[in-house]
Amino acid sequence: MDMYEKVIELARRRGFIWPAFELYGGAAGFYDYGPLGAPLKRGIEDLWRGFFVIREGFCEIECPTIGVEEIFKASGHLSGFSDPLTECKECGEIYRADHLIKHIIEVPDALADEEIYRVIKENDVFCPECGGDLSEIYEFNLMFKTFIGPGGKQPGYLRPETAQGMFVNFPRLLRHYRDRLPFGAVQIGKSYRNEISPRQGVIRLREFSQAEAEIFINPKDKSHPRFGEVADLKMTLYSKEGQERGVTEEMAVGEAVARGIIAHQTLAYYVARTCQFLMEAGLSKERLRFRQHKDDEMAHYAADCWDAEALLDRFGWIEIVGIADRTNYDLKSHMAQSQANLTVYLPLDQPRREDRLVVKPDMKKLGPLFRKEAKAVADALSALPLEELKQDPIVVIVDGKSQKIDPALVSFEMVTEEIRGEEIVPHVIEPSFGIDRILYSVLEHSYREETVEGETRAVLALKNRVVPIQVAVLPLMDRSELLAPAEEIARDLRSLDLRVEYDSSGSIGRRYRRNDEVGTPYSVTVDYETLEEGTVTIRDRDSMSQIRVVRADLADKIQALLAGEMEFLEAGTPLSG
Ligand code: AMP
Repeated sequence: MDMYEKVIELARRRGFIWPAFELYGGAAGFYDYGPLGAPLKRGIEDLWRGFFVIREGFCEIECPTIGVEEIFKASGHLSGFSDPLTECKECGEIYRADHLIKHIIEVPDALADEEIYRVIKENDVFCPECGGDLSEIYEFNLMFKTFIGPGGKQPGYLRPETAQGMFVNFPRLLRHYRDRLPFGAVQIGKSYRNEISPRQGVIRLREFSQAEAEIFINPKDKSHPRFGEVADLKMTLYSKEGQERGVTEEMAVGEAVARGIIAHQTLAYYVARTCQFLMEAGLSKERLRFRQHKDDEMAHYAADCWDAEALLDRFGWIEIVGIADRTNYDLKSHMAQSQANLTVYLPLDQPRREDRLVVKPDMKKLGPLFRKEAKAVADALSALPLEELKQDPIVVIVDGKSQKIDPALVSFEMVTEEIRGEEIVPHVIEPSFGIDRILYSVLEHSYREETVEGETRAVLALKNRVVPIQVAVLPLMDRSELLAPAEEIARDLRSLDLRVEYDSSGSIGRRYRRNDEVGTPYSVTVDYETLEEGTVTIRDRDSMSQIRVVRADLADKIQALLAGEMEFLEAGTPLSG
């Protein structure tokens, strides 16, 4: 059994992740989060909110998951969000064509369809299932299409990313932030991609959750006021240049910007926050790296792009977050598509003076002379440079015809104006998180097996911030005199908003193991000393050590332990053995 199988077996058995629609045979790319998976997912999302909403001061919005066609025309998804497919001429199996040549070409996404087909032919690539001949390449759009209302007239698409919600609401968001840059807006929600035969289990889904932030900044100032907070953070970077040489480098964020490896402070700041978030969610630092997109892999409009990648036992390095400087591409596209104004007025630090030529054609005289063409002549005059206005006669071209104008019919002067600001299209920094991939990576990176006294125990060493069960309350034995106080303790802890599991079935050892494997950090046991002396024990998942505490102090102690404010062995009297 490889790690993926072990983790998925545990995830199914204990209710983290279930294949969806299993009753009807299931469908690839769809999973349910069960009783433990759903709270784990919420925990990760709430941690994300702490980072990207609360601490950054960004607002969270929620938009429809179905979008109208114009959005995806502007975003490029309608024309460009497709994968190259090839079909086996013998058995009819369909494949991502670029995936079939991954072992031959390092970055096959960069190839045109004809080139992929050429590589397939030249390298004798055949159907992996039956060895049959493969067809020419064709494109398949990954968006799920539907229709809005009856009649099939108005197409709609399930959104392939949450980001567009922030772009199309840009004018309202700008107003919300009182017309000032920088600001950010985020969304956590479902996205849909009709992935081709997803074979990577929970890694490639057709319905998945994203958490995306769009941070709108001044293109002329990509420094970040809080960069100092993260400058010393060390991360594993796999830069463009590093990829050429096949080496990663452990480097402080400040150094990466100073050496020009990460394009600028703002992008680097969010790469660093992403790293901190992933560590707090429970990824292992040794199995996390930040890989820069190579030039041929990056979207043409992007200035720089880094992926957080998690190392997974079965799949290798997998992208879990993408952090990109998308420049003004998205807003410009929506401006062109919608004709709306998506600019921001930016006051200049120093107002500047600019000379401007003001031309005043004499309409009273031009009118009778040129009649219907008078307006066009006046416009042409207004557009002339100073030198040409000084000629006698002045010559303008109107509708392809040249017209001679008496200089007496037009006056002009240079005026000096004070320019206090300008309209600009903001640039966008986009950290885009795949919650499901993060969740699976957290499970795999937290999973470990230990042999204790000849017995193997599986532990999910989840972080307290995201655990689905915060505390288990366990009566030592299934006896009524122990059940009643245990139930009362469970009730008390729940009243403090703690997620409590009450379990009285089976031996205490088995119940500890059951809680270890779902990551419950603390188990409270009610025993006969509880009845005699008013104390309970708390067991620590990771060390398996136990302490005894006075029952009246239990809730405070558990809360302090969960918040990491107290060392376990200092929270009570350690039990020996
Ligand atoms: P992208 O817009 O393709 O850069 O995706 C942003 C993030 O969403 C990625 O880093 C992944 O974590 C996640 N993601 C993309 N596609 C899928 C998928 N099919 N299933 C699960 N997660 C995905």
